[in-house]
Amino acid sequence: MRGIAASPGIAIGTAVKKKDQALQADQREISSEEVEDELQRLQEGLEKAVEELKKLQEETKEKLGPKEAEIFEAHQMLVQDPEMVKTVEEGIKNQQKNAEKALEEAIEQYASLMAGLEDEYMQAREADIRDVGARVLRILKGESDEEADLSPDSIIIARDLTPSDTARLDKDKVVAFVTADGSRTSHSAIMARSLGIPAVVGLGRDFLEEVEDGMQVIVDGNQGEIFFNPEEKKLDEYREKLAEYQKEKERLARFKDVKAVTKDGEEIEVVGNIGNTEDVKPLLEQGGEGIGLFRTEFLYMDRDELPGEEEQFKAYREVVQAMGDYPVIIRTLDIGGDKDLPYLEQPEELNPFLGYRAIRLCLDQPEIFKPQLRAILRASHYGNVKIMYPMIATLEEVLAANRLLKESQGELKAEGVPFDPNMEKGIMIEVPGAVMIADALARELDFFSIGTNDLIQYTMAVDRGNEKIAYLHSPYHPGVLRLIKETIAAGQRNNIWVGMCGEAAGDELLMPFLLGAGLDEFSMSAGSILRIKELLGFWTREEAREIAEKALELKTEAEVKKLLQDNKRTAL
Ligand code: PEP
Ligand code: MG
Repeated sequence: MRGIAASPGIAIGTAVKKKDQALQADQREISSEEVEDELQRLQEGLEKAVEELKKLQEETKEKLGPKEAEIFEAHQMLVQDPEMVKTVEEGIKNQQKNAEKALEEAIEQYASLMAGLEDEYMQAREADIRDVGARVLRILKGESDEEADLSPDSIIIARDLTPSDTARLDKDKVVAFVTADGSRTSHSAIMARSLGIPAVVGLGRDFLEEVEDGMQVIVDGNQGEIFFNPEEKKLDEYREKLAEYQKEKERLARFKDVKAVTKDGEEIEVVGNIGNTEDVKPLLEQGGEGIGLFRTEFLYMDRDELPGEEEQFKAYREVVQAMGDYPVIIRTLDIGGDKDLPYLEQPEELNPFLGYRAIRLCLDQPEIFKPQLRAILRASHYGNVKIMYPMIATLEEVLAANRLLKESQGELKAEGVPFDPNMEKGIMIEVPGAVMIADALARELDFFSIGTNDLIQYTMAVDRGNEKIAYLHSPYHPGVLRLIKETIAAGQRNNIWVGMCGEAAGDELLMPFLLGAGLDEFSMSAGSILRIKELLGFWTREEAREIAEKALELKTEAEVKKLLQDNKRTAL
């Protein structure tokens, strides 16, 4: 089966289907003699659930930090909630239902109650109640906790994985993952690349029917191919590919500690994209010489309230200090679109990607934006920090954001809090309209960073997450190439540097075009860095310029792809 190649690499392993945690129990009428036994069973189930949650809390604390672990403490309290336990017990005693059914009904009752409340925070608890209910139910049914039970060659098969699911994947046991939903730029795919786990996504939901736990699976994250129960011949072919892949890894290792240079010795900045403090280590291990995009929205996700200035400051400072002298570009909150904050009241929208999001929301709600600006400024004192605004469409937005930044600087100065007064300011180029006024924007800024994930989405009018039309979300379309070229040219005319932090920056085929078009900085998922560093060494800027000029003359995506393919240079 073919899906979207979301994270490179090859894996051969065993399918583990991630179950959608359905709350469903069989009903069994029990006799009055059995009541005591059922009550006892319930009690044991609840205790076991608390034990599991404690363990999960500890593990999460170690892997991701105390804040992320808090949710499991709340879950422990839910399991032990006296009202809820009483309701289940009454179902067993008074209606002579088995523990599973009594639990299911109690959970349903409480979950619907929560869902019906006015308070958004309480509404959000519905999911937690269902989650906890599913855990206890699984224990009562005698099924094990799948996370704990993974074999060391597990290939996770799921409808989709949330960012927190992906972050929790045990890298020692999970060798790949495959999802029905998602795209190359969905956040689970981006996380997979950060973690260095091969992934294929967007296979469509039907494929889930065909997979069974325990099947042997080959995942080709380079080509986006999956083979279930492969024949011996296929297995041999892939064992060989896997060995080659490992050899390549060894070859690339020598680029870890050296700067990226072109064939004629020009140094090029090759940096990485991160989503949280956890990503810094793999980035440095993969030879990243800085951070070209810190997606701060992950700090705001999977929680119940906005992170305060102090908490943000600490997270940013941790990253900045870990990076030493390397640059760290912190992008301000880019929420909306496919990234939702349940605790923020946001209007229902027909087109969330075109809606109230990112800089639009931040400028409209300075009480959310200002603490972040202050936190970034404070972190700038500890290293080489630059700030970047997402989704800029107008000059007014840049002026307004800069005004709030200046206001924050004034406040900090008055409070005697140190910050870097020369911190560079930049914007993401993601909206075609912004490209058309890039000269005016450049005069207010120190850099541009091209966000191709969204730039392509808005240029081609193609939803970046819709697999049915994913073929249109291509960086090789001549319209996209011209927008990239124009952005870089505007940067050069106005003496500001231009980088790229969309996924196209790590695209091996496109690399000569980007170099030739004059890109100054390439920022990508950690997993692509070494290969791009190696590739840059095969080209001079001048040679690449010839290719770029030719590409800009072409009329179709296919022609561009062919040109790049024909001029590909490799190590072998
Ligand atoms: C982009 O749009 O290219 C980008 C890098 O931002 P994100 O993927 O976070 O929207
Ligand atoms: Mg974007």
